[in-house]
Amino acid sequence: MAWRNSKIVSMCFLLILALTLFSWSLERNDTFTVGDLKVAPGEAKAGYLSVPEKDNIGSFIPITVVNGLKKGKVLALVAGVHGYEYPPILALYRLKKMIDPQSLSGTLILVHIANLPAFQKRIIYYNPYDWKNLNRVFPGDLQGTLTQRIAYVLKKEVIERCDYLVDLHCGDGNEALIPYCYWMISNDKKIDDISKDMVLAFGIEHIIIDKTRTRDITQSKYCGNTAVLLQKPAITTESGYLGRTDEEATVRNIKGILSVMRHFKMIEGKPEPVSDPVWIDRYEVVYSDHDGLFYPLTKMGYYVTKGQKVGYITDFLGEVKQELKAPFSGIILYIINTPPTSKGEPLFEVGRIKE
Ligand SMILES: [Zn+2]
Repeated sequence: MAWRNSKIVSMCFLLILALTLFSWSLERNDTFTVGDLKVAPGEAKAGYLSVPEKDNIGSFIPITVVNGLKKGKVLALVAGVHGYEYPPILALYRLKKMIDPQSLSGTLILVHIANLPAFQKRIIYYNPYDWKNLNRVFPGDLQGTLTQRIAYVLKKEVIERCDYLVDLHCGDGNEALIPYCYWMISNDKKIDDISKDMVLAFGIEHIIIDKTRTRDITQSKYCGNTAVLLQKPAITTESGYLGRTDEEATVRNIKGILSVMRHFKMIEGKPEPVSDPVWIDRYEVVYSDHDGLFYPLTKMGYYVTKGQKVGYITDFLGEVKQELKAPFSGIILYIINTPPTSKGEPLFEVGRIKE
C-alpha cells in the first residue's frame, strides 16, 4: 500500500511539474526581431534601423527594444518625427532606463529620434535633405526622397510590428502649445474604443476628437493615422513647446506612457486615466498667406471668440499684410511664438470645446 501511495505522490509531482513547465512556456515571451536587432525575452537592446541610401543620402533611426520575459502586447513609442520636439525624445531615453525587461510583459519598441537629419540640424517641421514634413508623407515610399524612405522604414519595422502605437509630439521650436492629444476616429468601433482608453490613460485633459483623418492607407499622411488604418489603435500626444527641454513636459510624457503600459498590463500598477477630460469636437489650423513676420495677439490656452483678431503678419519691410481672425470660438491650442513665417505654414490652432 505504502509503495502504491508513494507512486501516486510521485506521479502527481511529475504532473504538477509538467503543468508548471507548460504554463511557463505559454507565458514566456518570444524573441523579438526588428531590423538587425534580435532581442531575447528578458533582454533590452539598442541599435539603428537603416534608411536605405539614394543619391548617396541615407539615414539611421536610433531605437531600443525592451523585450519582456513574459508574453504581452507590443507597444511602439515614437519620438522625434519632428526633430525640434525635445521633451518626448528626452522622455524615451529616461524611460529606457526605468523599464526592467525581466518584469515587463510584452515588448516596447522605443523610436528615439525618427527624423535624425532634422534633429541634427535643429530644423522645425522639415527634413533638411528634401524639405518634406515626415508627418505628412506616410505611408512612405522606398523609392522616394529621404523623408519618404524614413516613413517607409517606420511603417515596415515599427508600425506593422506593434499592437498599439503612441506618436509623441509637442510644440515645435516655434510653437507655444498647451498639452493635448488627438483621438483619431476610424469608425471601427473596436479600434476606436481601445484608442479612447489609451488617450484617457495618457492623462492629458484636452483631447481632440479627430474625425478629419483620411481612411485611405495610401494617403495616410500621419504616423498615428497609418497605425490606425493598419488596425493598430494609436494616439498622437502633444506635450512641450518652443523647442524647450522643460522637466514638466518630459515628466508628463513619461507618466502618460507608464499609465498606458499599465492599462495594457505590461507593468504592475493601475493606470491613472484623466478623470475630467475636456473634449474638443472641432479644430482648425490657420495658415499664413504671406512670407514675413508673425505677431501673435493672444497666448496658448487663451479663449478666443469667433472673429477675434489673433495675430497679424507683416512683410520684411514692416507693412501689415494679413490679419488673422479666429474662425470660431474656442481655445488656442498652439500659436506661433517666434517671428518668421512663410506662406502655407501654420500660425495657430483653435479647438472648440464640446458642450
Ligand atoms: Zn510634431
